[in-house]
Amino acid sequence: MGIKMSWEDFARSMGVEPQILENKEARLLKKFVMDLKIPTHCQGCQGLDLSNPNPVHHPSYELTPACNHDCIFCYSNVAVKLGKAPKPGYYGWENPKAITVSQYGEPLLSPRIVEVNKMLRERFPEARLDLQTNGSLLTEELWEKLDFDLVMISLDASTREKHLKITNADTFDAVVNALRIVGSDESVRSVVRTIFMPGINDEDIPKIAELASSLGVDEMMLQPLTIHELNVERLRKAGLDFDRAESVREFLKAAMEAKKYIDVRISGCQLVLYQKMDHLTLFSARRVARDVVPLVKRERNVT
Ligand code: SF4
Repeated sequence: MGIKMSWEDFARSMGVEPQILENKEARLLKKFVMDLKIPTHCQGCQGLDLSNPNPVHHPSYELTPACNHDCIFCYSNVAVKLGKAPKPGYYGWENPKAITVSQYGEPLLSPRIVEVNKMLRERFPEARLDLQTNGSLLTEELWEKLDFDLVMISLDASTREKHLKITNADTFDAVVNALRIVGSDESVRSVVRTIFMPGINDEDIPKIAELASSLGVDEMMLQPLTIHELNVERLRKAGLDFDRAESVREFLKAAMEAKKYIDVRISGCQLVLYQKMDHLTLFSARRVARDVVPLVKRERNVT
């Protein structure tokens, strides 16, 4: 028997038939998935509608493709390298339910952030405004000038060293401070956004959940990893377990761990699929998480 025993072999060596364990764990996963809520950010997104054959993400307002982080998994950096990053502007339609600022780059790097925030409020008074940021540039002073309904701050590590390894930026303390700022503001829905990277950050996920919760953050949005071709080497070097990265069961188990500390949610478009699966399918499902070029599928409109 090898050093790495499969859990089926392990079960047999303990005198238990694997199917029995499998069934039990599968039912637990299914129940967990049925009880999960849609992330606040996903509410209103076409990705939740399984009858839509070609759903697109919420409208976004892009400020800059530049970023002061260089994350090992990032699609935005890939898009920049391939010359496919969107130009600044509004990518959406009239009467949007929600607008994300922004999907590419770091919006707080742009000196136009406050002005664009105001413009969007005036032009789309009914829309929920979601800020998506790495948090490293958020200060109390800037926060007072901003006006968002929801803010998502990315954090994938629970220590300064691991954060540096993942983002190539020594900004852990600044990001934690940003979580503190938004976590203590009752008027905004605050979310920590974490990517599941088994082999790299599995042990960090519950710790991030605990930390964020202690800072008053309302929700964790745990997302599966999409592997972009240009990032494969970097992810491999950082220790990614590619096999587990594609396992839905492993992803859900990470969410279960985080749930002990915080209101964890998983990407809405994934959740609606998982809720439709029967427990054994869910247990063995794999998510094809490969992509070549990240593209915006929405038209750019001049506002
Ligand atoms: S994760 Fe999916 S459902 Fe949520 S906002 Fe993005 S595309 Fe929409």
